[in-house]
Amino acid sequence: MAPRTARPTPAPTAPESERRARAEAIFARLSAARPDPHTELVYKDPFTLLVAVVLSAQATDKAVNKATERLFAVAPTPRALLALGEERLREYVKSLGFFRNKAKNLIALSRAIVEEHGGEVPRAREALERLPGVGRKTANVVLNEAFGEPTIAVDTHVFRVANRTGIAPGKTPLEVEKKLLEVTPERFRKGAHHWLILHGRYVCKARKPACDRCPISDLCDYYRTTAAKEAGKGS
Ligand code: SF4
Repeated sequence: MAPRTARPTPAPTAPESERRARAEAIFARLSAARPDPHTELVYKDPFTLLVAVVLSAQATDKAVNKATERLFAVAPTPRALLALGEERLREYVKSLGFFRNKAKNLIALSRAIVEEHGGEVPRAREALERLPGVGRKTANVVLNEAFGEPTIAVDTHVFRVANRTGIAPGKTPLEVEKKLLEVTPERFRKGAHHWLILHGRYVCKARKPACDRCPISDLCDYYRTTAAKEAGKGS
């Protein structure tokens, strides 16, 4: 199911050239505030990142970091996680939503990594997406953060900000991802999803976007539409 986002009245989709120019200006501003963005999940290699990202579905990064701090002290590799076993793994992650399913997937993906990839997290998208519990978003995060690829992972925050600003409107995460890749200048692609996640998490919040302190409000469709509506009410 596509993440939900609030838009007052959908603004007509702007031409790609216009969205491209706005995206460039938006990333220029967001990157100036945070030149070297990284995930807030704590990890030390591709495997621990993969585990943390799988655990982060329906959970905050803070809660995941708390659980993985203990887990990675005893099981920081796929072999160690397999040795720990599903039942004991559950004890480490039981504070997180869907922990039973996540523990099951983590054991299955550890087994696949050991048996099919020599104990190393594969670097190819197709191989990553074949691992149990790993979808396109998780693969994009791992490719970007652990392997330095310029992928754009679309989570609920990225989906919302892309739609509200209007730079990459879409009904599904995949549609938004494709449009973001089209309009994001190459030099911003590696950091793009980090900047949009952080902006969505701390400023362009789901229920009540903080438009009054938003550094990109003059580039945002949602703001223009809302401002025009407010002006209409006052006249
Ligand atoms: S002005 Fe900023 S906070 Fe408000 S909807 Fe647009 S991007 Fe989000």
